[in-house]
Amino acid sequence: MNNQSSNDTLAVLGGPKLLNNTFTRYNSLGLEEVEAAKNVVESGVLSQFLGCWDPDFFGGPKVQEFERQCESYFGVKHAVTFNSWTSGLVAAVGAVGIEPGDEVIVSPWTMAASATAILHWNAIPVFADIERETFCLDPVSIERNISEQTRAIMSVDIAGHSADMDALRKIADKHKLKIISDTAQAPAAMYKGKFAGTLADIGGYSLNYHKHIHTGEGGIAVTDDDDLADRLRLIRNHAEVVVDAKGVTNLSNMIGHNFRLGEIECAMGIEQLKKLKTQVESRQRIARILNKGLAGLKGLNIPAVMPGCTHAYYVYPMTLDIAVLGISRQRLHHALTAEGVPALGVGYQNLHLLPMYQKKMAYGSKGFPWTSDICKRNVSYAKGICPVAEDLHESSFLGFGICSHEFKDEEVDLIIAAFHKVWRNLEALR
Ligand SMILES: *Cc1c(COP(=O)(O)O)cnc(C)c1O
Repeated sequence: MNNQSSNDTLAVLGGPKLLNNTFTRYNSLGLEEVEAAKNVVESGVLSQFLGCWDPDFFGGPKVQEFERQCESYFGVKHAVTFNSWTSGLVAAVGAVGIEPGDEVIVSPWTMAASATAILHWNAIPVFADIERETFCLDPVSIERNISEQTRAIMSVDIAGHSADMDALRKIADKHKLKIISDTAQAPAAMYKGKFAGTLADIGGYSLNYHKHIHTGEGGIAVTDDDDLADRLRLIRNHAEVVVDAKGVTNLSNMIGHNFRLGEIECAMGIEQLKKLKTQVESRQRIARILNKGLAGLKGLNIPAVMPGCTHAYYVYPMTLDIAVLGISRQRLHHALTAEGVPALGVGYQNLHLLPMYQKKMAYGSKGFPWTSDICKRNVSYAKGICPVAEDLHESSFLGFGICSHEFKDEEVDLIIAAFHKVWRNLEALR
């Protein structure tokens, strides 16, 4: 890197700003989606779901077509669409047969819905710690958190990298647990030749507007299990009304919702799915440029990709060795942002530290479900239970939102130059 200008003073210390670019927002929508949406509107059928046992229980033509294409794309027996992946997660926890008071082990380093989907069924989220390299659940911490009540693991493929599914499956088999995979941020990331999300009992992807591909809102659940797929479809669409006519004998969690995705979204989803591979590859290409440009900056760790895995880079996740750097992340973040580096984030707050868990107040004001006798033990949400995740959030994680804008190569080079400028001037920041 040789971008040293005559005035190398950091912008944060009054020097010239390195990047003055305005970045173009990421947008994966094109004329194909416009045409697809228009055709649906002209057909007059914006949704064809019926909440009763009828061929239309499974939705209209675009829902069906999109689901069949997802099945063939991800190589799974069943894909079931939802009006959000939050809805998909709720349906998944219900489908695997979680009972009130059951415990589900979940990562704290994720978007809120991974854990609220558990609470939705009056089950108890138990937060296990994550690995510092992948930010996914640490198998050792999972084992440590297993109790008599544990029934499932909610694994989260955060930032774009799969969890260690072989290790998770081993634990799940040993303790007879189900695995749900929240792969919202890692569609088309690979784990040993398979798509992330497809190795769980139920996995799935988000189609909200800031994910790799989107339909505005939406979600896709994937599974190879016929029974689980049936239960997902039932919970999606007013299960309790349908069970009799469908001959469903297992009534557990057959309380349904309207979690149905519309025809317009599915028609656009068909077009978006065709673009998934190139969207992910474009981010992998930017990540390779960043890896090369940022390698060797002391105290900065570029993202790890485990053997047999590929990364989808929803976020380009870095970690800092604060002791080596001798300055705080906040100071670095300010300095980089002042140089014009966009989309820098400090990652997820830890879910167990949210007021709902700290005060153990979810349903109503009396602490249900934790204070109820369905909750068999006192599950701790105290600060300190997930030291790795807590340290990442408090001081050592730095994420670059690779998916937030359409970055041109020159812009990526300038971003790298800004990192180098800040690193050359660390002494002045201390
Ligand atoms: C986006 C996201 C969700 C929720 O998806 P929605 O479609 O927005 O409901 C869940 N988990 C993770 C990790 C996410 O990033």
